[in-house]
Amino acid sequence: MKYGILGDIHGNLSALRAVLAALEAEHVDRFLSVGDVVGYGAAPRDCIALLREIDAVVVKGNHDAACVGEIDIAYFNNYARAAVRWTQSALTPTDRKWLTALPLVANLEHASVAHGTYHRPELFDYVQSTTDADPSLDAMQLPVCFVGHTHYPVTLLRLRDDPHRTAYTEDTELDLSESHRALINVGSVGQPRDEDPRAAYAVFDSERERVWIKRVGYDIECEAERIRSAGLPSALAERLFLGV
Ligand code: ZN
Repeated sequence: MKYGILGDIHGNLSALRAVLAALEAEHVDRFLSVGDVVGYGAAPRDCIALLREIDAVVVKGNHDAACVGEIDIAYFNNYARAAVRWTQSALTPTDRKWLTALPLVANLEHASVAHGTYHRPELFDYVQSTTDADPSLDAMQLPVCFVGHTHYPVTLLRLRDDPHRTAYTEDTELDLSESHRALINVGSVGQPRDEDPRAAYAVFDSERERVWIKRVGYDIECEAERIRSAGLPSALAERLFLGV
């Protein structure tokens, strides 16, 4: 089975379209999304519609939860808070219902999906180090789990011959044949923060036991203009050009 995995989309329609076009060329069987479909970007409804169209397996991110009033946005930064308020007013009741119904974790045939951590997904904690990853790796029921949330592609893994040591890698091609467990952050489609402004996504071939983290360029100017003309903070448009 070949999976296409979509990291934090954040209402960025041009980036999502570019990634789906790239994944179409890969002939993937199933689409997965690690959540944060909405928030920050100016096309939340179109992004939801596209994910529904491709029948993606989607889990709930903290921005998705905030946009349906499930978490307190007092701790969000000013831009994120403004974007949540804007998104709340842009969503239809059907969109809200769809977001509300998203699970926090999905356990599929070959992989699990969560937003921040696997072991306590409701806390939306960040995995940036081996220490952060250990409780998730301990709790995982399948050998592979895809996450997002940091917008920074990275993999934390334990090898079969050394299952008590967790390794950190930013490799973009992963051979999982020797891996015991791997927690893979696929980066962000709609708001990369690793100083590479291109949209990030991943391909997982379960038979070949391989994962590739890939990048594709998209029309950033078009998306930036959509953000500006929606009345969202212009900083949310500017950061897209920098990948921060
Ligand atoms: Zn996010």
